[in-house]
Amino acid sequence: MNNLIRCLSEDGTVLVMAADTTELVETARQYHETSKVCSAALGRLLTAASLMGTLLKSDDYSLTLRINGGGPAGSVIAVGDPHGNVRGYVMNSHIELPLNEKGKLDVGGAVGKDGHLTVIKDIGMRDPYIGQIPIVSGEIAEDVTSYYAISEQVPTVCALGVLVNPDLSIAAAGGFMIQLLPTADDTIIDRVEAGLQGLPSVTEMLTQGMSPLDICKKVVPNFEIGVLDEEHPEYVCNCSKERVEAALLSTGRESLLEMAEDAGTQVRCHFCPKIYSFTPDELRKLAEGSVDDDEDDEEE
Ligand SMILES: [Zn+2]
Repeated sequence: MNNLIRCLSEDGTVLVMAADTTELVETARQYHETSKVCSAALGRLLTAASLMGTLLKSDDYSLTLRINGGGPAGSVIAVGDPHGNVRGYVMNSHIELPLNEKGKLDVGGAVGKDGHLTVIKDIGMRDPYIGQIPIVSGEIAEDVTSYYAISEQVPTVCALGVLVNPDLSIAAAGGFMIQLLPTADDTIIDRVEAGLQGLPSVTEMLTQGMSPLDICKKVVPNFEIGVLDEEHPEYVCNCSKERVEAALLSTGRESLLEMAEDAGTQVRCHFCPKIYSFTPDELRKLAEGSVDDDEDDEEE
């Protein structure tokens, strides 16, 4: 089962969280039929969105991560909620690359380094909070660390990993994040850094059978920690015909009327395999609706 746990050091200076997202990354792989390197890129970004999502303060908030470095995978998107539930996609989910010089899946090569990581937080305001930083490596964990340093001024350690089986299924996926709270001074930073020396990779820890709680304890060995809360995140898509209609409406009246000339139009959700069908009549009705909206706006 997917599992995400958040702990706080007893002195209240260090937040540490870890997640086993193997099952939800496997769901994403099946939905999007991702290649190995794309499973790794999407799996890492989904895991980051899951961990970061739990830092949102209210149930109806959400967080979107978008990374695009001009690499062959195109944009990778992940959306997280406060319970760590996620959904996402890779634009070009089938591209494959040779292993990098370390013999690892070349996520940085697939994502590219010439672009940005964008973090969009929908926190119930009219305009969402948007933070954007230049990509550091495209390996995603480093980029998340850089985002917190530059945009939120929160010292953060982030590690993410996805291990893919030869048959393309996901052997292990997960990550951890350590954040220093404002009460932490330099000695705390030194103690955190000292604890990270010689740490195995996330996927090594997971394949050794370590739970997210074991990982939390392992990554901050110099602190006594207590559990704050635990979640069981899943891959959840909230699409519906109404949402797809709203997306269609935004394409404008003319494109709707153009689509209505076909015998039927099918729209596949970006995030899951669901397909929504629209008849020419439905599309024409939507087109009328888009005109009505304009008139309303003019009257105001
Ligand atoms: Zn969907």
